[in-house]
Amino acid sequence: MITARSLLDDAWYERYRRISALNIRSSIYDVTDRCNLRCKGCFFFSSGEHQVAKQEPDVDEWKGFIEREKERGVNLAILIGGEPTLYLDRVAAFYERLPTFCATNGQIKVPRERFPDMMVGISLWGTPDDEKQLRGKDTFAVSAANYTGDPYTYYLLTITPTQIGRVEETVRRIRDIGVKVHFQLLSNDEGADGFSWDDTQLTELRHEMDDLLERYRDTVISSRYYHEIVTTGRMLGRCFGWEECPSVSEPVDDRSPQPKRLIHFIRWASDLHTIHRCCTSATRDCATCKDGAAHMSWVMVNKRAHMRSTEDFQHWIEVYEMFAKLYRFIPW
Ligand code: SF4
Ligand code: SF4
Repeated sequence: MITARSLLDDAWYERYRRISALNIRSSIYDVTDRCNLRCKGCFFFSSGEHQVAKQEPDVDEWKGFIEREKERGVNLAILIGGEPTLYLDRVAAFYERLPTFCATNGQIKVPRERFPDMMVGISLWGTPDDEKQLRGKDTFAVSAANYTGDPYTYYLLTITPTQIGRVEETVRRIRDIGVKVHFQLLSNDEGADGFSWDDTQLTELRHEMDDLLERYRDTVISSRYYHEIVTTGRMLGRCFGWEECPSVSEPVDDRSPQPKRLIHFIRWASDLHTIHRCCTSATRDCATCKDGAAHMSWVMVNKRAHMRSTEDFQHWIEVYEMFAKLYRFIPW
């Protein structure tokens, strides 16, 4: 029988042991239906998710809800929105009860006196010009001032087809303020002109991300295998999409047969009752979905399938480590 030990030398086995003890059970929470930006291609607003439920205003209701989520086995709360920092009392209700990750556009500083070690992921959509075009302002100018040198922060850089060949410029700006960066790809939910991917662009971007990972090892949190999976949508000869997606909310997952999936995963709306279909837009076409977290999770839940060779299993370990670093379960 093939076991982890039979596939790995001592050093890799130690890396495997470190992550296999983690047993991460995440869910995603819309903290609010409001945002202080309106980005072109934002899945939250383009799919009307801000209208499907009215946000719960009473913070005590949030506290009770989070306690029930803990009882359900959640041990990582991923906060999104809208913009979570508009409602810091709700963010605090999570942070005081669970390991918490807060996605933000970085325009409001998370006060470190109140949230000393909460992981913060700042969305960034390219250079100042790209950002002005897609988000209406250069958000980096503000977020960099708020988070320079912050050890519990990274940028989540959404790469668009127009950034190919010049991603380095943005990586360098992030490195220069002493923060890490992770890559993901725009899914172009609003069909903005020139922002949909073709195969040649995806191949070029894969090479560019590989190169940046190699040259900016202290700044980029990523893995070559993740780049391959997210740009090709293929893993071990299988295609990413609805039949394979691991990030569908469990109570509404009626797929048959059931694929490997995130255990007990739910994405909750901010009324604390409504359940969204998946970790991203319910109106998105799964065939063109480029969601980075869903692709990463797709690898992670398919551990056994990767235990067919040493190389495949090492790829699995690298992606799991990347996830664990992004949520600070292990050091950068
Ligand atoms: S900052 Fe995030 S939630 Fe707000 S509009 Fe932009 S993508 Fe959407
Ligand atoms: S849109 Fe993406 S994340 Fe959502 S179910 Fe489809 S493939 Fe999964």
